[in-house]
Amino acid sequence: MQALTFFHTHTGEQLQINHVPGILSVANQAKINTFLRDFRTGAIHPIDSGLLDIISAVKTRTHNDGIIEVISGYRSAETNQLLQGNSTGVAKKSLHMKGQAIDIRIRNLSTCNLRDVAANLRSGGVGYYAKSDFVHLDTGRSRTW
Ligand SMILES: [Zn+2]
Repeated sequence: MQALTFFHTHTGEQLQINHVPGILSVANQAKINTFLRDFRTGAIHPIDSGLLDIISAVKTRTHNDGIIEVISGYRSAETNQLLQGNSTGVAKKSLHMKGQAIDIRIRNLSTCNLRDVAANLRSGGVGYYAKSDFVHLDTGRSRTW
C-alpha cells in the first residue's frame, strides 16, 4: 500500500489516498475522478487506475514520499480544443480526454529523474516538458517524447 498525496496546482485542492497497486476501491475511484476533473468546465470522467499504479511504482523505485503536483488530469473535448488553439504541444486525440493521462511533477524528485524512471516501467506514454517542468504520463502504448 502506498500513501499518495496530491496537490492540484490549478484548484489548490489536496487529496490523500492509500493506493494498493492493481486495486482501486470505489471510494478512491470517486475521489480521484473528482480531484482530476476538468477544472475549466467542472466535467468529471472516470480516471484510469493504471495512472496511480505508474505513479506508485515511480515513488517506490525512487523511495520518494513527496507531494504529487498535478498540472492537468481529465480534459473535456471543449477544453482540449481550447488548449490546442493556444499551444502546439496539445494532441487532437489526447488521452487526457479519456481519463488516461496526467501531467505531474513530484516534490523532491527532478522531472528528468521522474521521466527516466517512468519510461523504464514501459507501462505507457511518457512525455517530458522541461520548460514547464512537468512530465506527462498516460496508459496508452509505451512510448516517449
Ligand atoms: Zn499531458
